[in-house]
This record gives sequence, structure tokens and C-alpha cells, in this order.
Amino acid sequence: MYKIIVFDKDDTITKAKTNIDTEISNLFSKLLEKNKVAIITWWNFDNIYTQIVKLLPKNTNFSNLFLFPTIGTQMYYFKNWEWKRKYAEFLSEEEANYIKSVLEKWLKDLNLIPEKYWWELIENRWSQITYSALWQKAPLEEKQKFDPDKKIRQKLVDYVKNDLKDYTIGIAGTTSVDITKKGLDKAYWIKKIMENLWIKKEEISFIWDALFPWWNDYPVKEFWIDCIKVNNPEDTKKYLKNLK
Ligand SMILES: [Mg+2]
Repeated sequence: MYKIIVFDKDDTITKAKTNIDTEISNLFSKLLEKNKVAIITWWNFDNIYTQIVKLLPKNTNFSNLFLFPTIGTQMYYFKNWEWKRKYAEFLSEEEANYIKSVLEKWLKDLNLIPEKYWWELIENRWSQITYSALWQKAPLEEKQKFDPDKKIRQKLVDYVKNDLKDYTIGIAGTTSVDITKKGLDKAYWIKKIMENLWIKKEEISFIWDALFPWWNDYPVKEFWIDCIKVNNPEDTKKYLKNLK
């Protein structure tokens, strides 16, 4: 039996960037009664907290829940009625400023600065710098129309990568490009779960739709962890209902 069930957030527990719905929230809470559960996502702690944790039933056994925001560069656990951070691997201020300056330069050169929403294009998420082509809070519809084939963002990646050789650059979500430290490979978060929760890789089950679009199913194939692919939160509900 698995010792931990790990869930991706967007399009697995919730639709992209939205809150957990009541049905899945109840199923999730039930799962937490007896099982360790982790959430791994690109989003930061506040996002996971507001969109999932806060909306779970009050009597949920939170001590079984572990959060791995920003792709596992941080870990949170619940103890003595509060969420505590176990570790965080943040970029230094110098690194963050350098990445920002590179992005700004190429966004200007490539004429990728939109008239609207210019003020929040680049965000420091501490362990990653995120470029959001429109704006974090732009309507989902507008975002989905922006770069569905990822061509615009791929162009940006192609230009910035020379200046950012020490970093991993990934296209994420509907409008984002994320920049993190190099050591953050496809199996990074799996290693972190194993290391911090004393769990073996064969004891991990992973439920996801597509966590790293450009990494495909590497976490499964290369690291041999068990994986269940879902298409949306409705599939996840079916999975949760079928659990004994
Ligand atoms: Mg996803």
C-alpha cells in the first residue's frame, strides 16, 4: 500500500487557478483521515492555502497533509494548529535581480510588453521568478487565448536561455515562464518527499494531469513512481470515490 498520495493542483484537484469545490473538498478530507497526502504545484503557499486548505472542512486531519509549493522548493506541514515551513530554497536577492533584468531586457527587445497589465509581469516567488505574459489575475479566458501553442513563450525562452545558463527555464500554466535554480530537475520534488517524510519511492502514488508540460511524464518514467493520470478534477473525484 502507498504511504503517501501526491496530487498536482491545477486541473487535478481544482481547475487551473480556481478554488477546490465542495465535493472534492469533502472527499479530500475523508482521504486525510487515514492517509498521508501531499500537494505539489508551481503555486506558492498562499495560493494553495487560499484555494484548497482554507476550504477543507474544519475537522480535517491536517497533520496528514504536506504542501510542496513552488515545485518542492518549499515544504509546509501542520503542527500545533499552525502551518510551519520545514525548508525553503530561495533565490538570493542578487540572483533574483539578475534574472529580472535579463527578462526585462528581452521582453523589451522582443516587444512582448503589453499595453495592459504591464505592472505585474515579473513576480519574485522567492524560489522562482515567474513571468506572466498578461497578469496574474487576468481573466482565465483571456489567458487561454494568449499562447495556446506556447510559441510566444518558447521564443522568449530561446532568447533568455543564453543569459540564464545556471537556471532551469520552464513554460508553465497558460501564460507563464518560470525560472528556478538549476538543481531543480524532474525528480527533485520526489527526492524531497522521500528525504523529509522518510518514504520510499515505491510507496508514493502520484495523481496528476500534466505538472510539467515540457517534462512530460519524466517523473514517472525516469523515477519509476506509480502514477495515475487524470484529465480534470472530475476524474480525480472518481479516483477518490473508488479508494477503499
Ligand atoms: Mg496540472
